[in-house]
Amino acid sequence: MSILITGATGQLGTLIVEQLAAQLPPGGLIAGVRDLQKAEHPRSLGVEIRIADYDRPDTLREAFTGVNKLLFISSPGTDDQARFVQHTHVIEAAVEAGVGHIFYTGLAFPPVGIDPQNHLHLRSEQAIAASGLTYTFLRNALYTDIAGMFGLKEAVANGELVTAPGNWTFNTVTRRDLALGTAGILTSEGHEHKSYELTAPQTWDFEQLAEVLSRISGKKVVRVEDTGMQNWVYAFLSKLDTSSTSPDLEHFIGGPVLSLEESIAPFL
Ligand code: NAP
Repeated sequence: MSILITGATGQLGTLIVEQLAAQLPPGGLIAGVRDLQKAEHPRSLGVEIRIADYDRPDTLREAFTGVNKLLFISSPGTDDQARFVQHTHVIEAAVEAGVGHIFYTGLAFPPVGIDPQNHLHLRSEQAIAASGLTYTFLRNALYTDIAGMFGLKEAVANGELVTAPGNWTFNTVTRRDLALGTAGILTSEGHEHKSYELTAPQTWDFEQLAEVLSRISGKKVVRVEDTGMQNWVYAFLSKLDTSSTSPDLEHFIGGPVLSLEESIAPFL
């Protein structure tokens, strides 16, 4: 059995490689990397390294040869058209190399006001389903990093969490929990042609975030709405409905995800 992780030098990929290296017998785990110079950490864990560059289909075909399970971590970047071209390279190479089963990390939340045909993750899932590959879709929640975009240190210092007006609801998880759940899926069977929503089982909003900040800091923090708020993150969030929940992630972790309180600690 061989498992290859693409984007293995990234933040999520690194955590998944660490989980799998700790759980699997030596041999069979492969880190797909773009840049060999960044591969020191997975190499130190005894993991085989192969070049798998989304922009170089020849590297993908070679890297995927003999792979039973391919965890395809979606490409980073802001140009969804360019990302989709990269994703097409991965899917075509997986077909050509005869990969047994592809697992694709997409996004749990449906787009708002965007044609699904123009949505990177939905298009990628459709392309995988049409390829004839055996697949599993791992639809991830927002990373908890998004909470760090709301000026948490300033909120604690000033006693005010200043946000855009409105009822915003979030479902966020840490990459650590996603890595635990993903490793659980990759090391078990029975996931053919299934989709999992790897989200938290509950959402949070700005009032709850202010309460958590109050608890952590021991100082009263209240939410204050500012109609003039300038923050790119609201434009991003307004195109997603981030309020859905699912038990899937906790099921595959085999326990609870980190609480909002625990997961925002690094941003303070
Ligand atoms: P990350 O830390 O930026 O890691 C991205 C990985 O992709 C790195 O290993 C990077 O390699 C690799 N990569 C970049 N270009 C590549 C190419 N041409 N060919 C092959 N590999 C390439 O991202 P992350 O935090 O691990 O997140 C993983 C993915 O989740 C992202 O790529 C993005 O699609 C998605 N995402 C999800 C959320 C969310 O909230 N759910 C938020 C942001 C992003 P190098 O180390 O060589 O650069």
